[in-house]
Amino acid sequence: MCRRPRRGGRWAAAAARGGRSLAVFAKMADFLPSRSALSGCFPGCLLTSTEAEQQRKSKEIDKCLNREKTYVKRLVKILLLGAGESGKSTFLKQMRIIHGQDWDRTAREEFRATIYSNVIKGVRVLVDAREKLHIPWGNPDNQNNGDKMMAFDTRSTMVAQGMVETQVFLQYLPAIKSLWADNGIQHAYDRRREFQLGESVKYFLDNLDKLGESMKVIKHSEQILKTALISKNTQLVKLYENLESREKCLLNEAFQPDSVLFRPITLHSESDWISSHPEPTQDFEQFYNDPYRSRPTSQKSAIYVQPIGSFGDTKVSTEDYMKWLKDYCEAFYYGLSVKILEPVPVSHTSCAFRVNEYTCNLQIHAGDLLKYLKKKKPEDAFCIVGITMIDLYPRESWNFVFGQASLTEGMGIFSFARYDSDFYSASYKGRLKRVKKLPSADYSVFDGYYTPVISSLLLLRSCKTLTHEIGHIFGLHHCQWLQCVMQGSNHLEESDRRPLDLCPICLRKLQSAIGFHIVERYQALLGWMDEDRSGMDAELRNEATMGLLKPVEAFKECREWVLKCLDVLQK
Ligand SMILES: [Zn+2]
Ligand SMILES: [Zn+2]
Repeated sequence: MCRRPRRGGRWAAAAARGGRSLAVFAKMADFLPSRSALSGCFPGCLLTSTEAEQQRKSKEIDKCLNREKTYVKRLVKILLLGAGESGKSTFLKQMRIIHGQDWDRTAREEFRATIYSNVIKGVRVLVDAREKLHIPWGNPDNQNNGDKMMAFDTRSTMVAQGMVETQVFLQYLPAIKSLWADNGIQHAYDRRREFQLGESVKYFLDNLDKLGESMKVIKHSEQILKTALISKNTQLVKLYENLESREKCLLNEAFQPDSVLFRPITLHSESDWISSHPEPTQDFEQFYNDPYRSRPTSQKSAIYVQPIGSFGDTKVSTEDYMKWLKDYCEAFYYGLSVKILEPVPVSHTSCAFRVNEYTCNLQIHAGDLLKYLKKKKPEDAFCIVGITMIDLYPRESWNFVFGQASLTEGMGIFSFARYDSDFYSASYKGRLKRVKKLPSADYSVFDGYYTPVISSLLLLRSCKTLTHEIGHIFGLHHCQWLQCVMQGSNHLEESDRRPLDLCPICLRKLQSAIGFHIVERYQALLGWMDEDRSGMDAELRNEATMGLLKPVEAFKECREWVLKCLDVLQK
């Protein structure tokens, strides 16, 4: 009974703070009509599970509010005013350099899209200026190129944000080159004092060859894509014909040359997966006839996920995060059930571990984890995948590995450690101060070891990795047909470039393995992205409850894409 006044006091305090906190309290009270009587009479251990859960959430909201308060108090806001091209963003970039934050590959890649956008904008300004200043073309044939540039569609979300995709830029590159070489455009450039032109445009236009360097679009002909999807085997064509017509409508987008849903793969550099790991392609027929691929059966149909080590941070519990991943996989592998096993600490797996001598972070032995998973694989499992926030290594001589799998045994282990946005920076919190040899049986080094903050981006990256890797267990090879979550990736920037979902060819493979209705699968994906959001007050969502709701901000573009697919499927 000694707990009564303290608990009563805490609830009262939450209510007395009023405003936002009170609103949350009132929302929870909907489920607890006699909240005050209950909290006054029973100690915490007698609460029902719903009440205990709500109490936990209430505590988290309090913690969250306190943390935000301190954060806001310490925040210094600076307003930078200045005309276009006066150096506002340059100032911020310089601040970043002064404070020792290096530009990693992902950050550098983000500039690529901005540079493309600046070049296109600059050329449009020059074409327009030439016209208005009545300067004749050096080569009248360039009128067509000028018209093409002026017809550039500036309405897409990406362009509105000052970015242009590589694939789009490459389409315009020949026209841009020809225009920049034209005397008329050069003459207009000489008169640039009479109009506004970005300072850096000349630099980039002089280096157009470098901008398009090592970029390659893998474009297959319509016929090749059609055969990869439908095949020429009469039995498989018949199977295709049996699909619903709206499903075929969506799948056929694979070979529509101007499809907005499925685009060709763009290689950005020699270090991209396809350039550095040449592999044979796998079309639908090869997949369908592969005698070695595993298929879910009625006895073995569940996908098991085994969390290893801690996942939660101060805002999100391991349990919440696992639930989001489970629900996502259930939508993606629509029709199969995904079961999360009780999380285990690293010590339970008896795996070897080490400190990486370059990155100074803890790593666990991937092969040992696979041996552990083999013992744990339940009878009804189609596959079991272990996931961890701790980095992995496959053998002493290797630096690291993102994951390792045994396809024949339906097992895999994957780490999300390197998806932390800070992993490659000097300030990464998972670095140990001293690199020393660790005693092999002492797992206490993992107690309280750093786990990444569960951001929306981390959730997006985890969803992609998990579904990509489980896709391999189904027998799907790396996709080389169209942009697809099954594309191989050699580095973080490349895996970020991959879309969240499958291309039609891989979708048909998965559909034939599981047998779902395509429309229902897309509805489930949309449902996952929308769940938790509806009916929630916008202000509440943004502040007090940030850590309690699924952070789906990074899925915004994917959601728009799923809606477009559903449009085709529901016509
Ligand atoms: Zn892969
Ligand atoms: Zn694909």
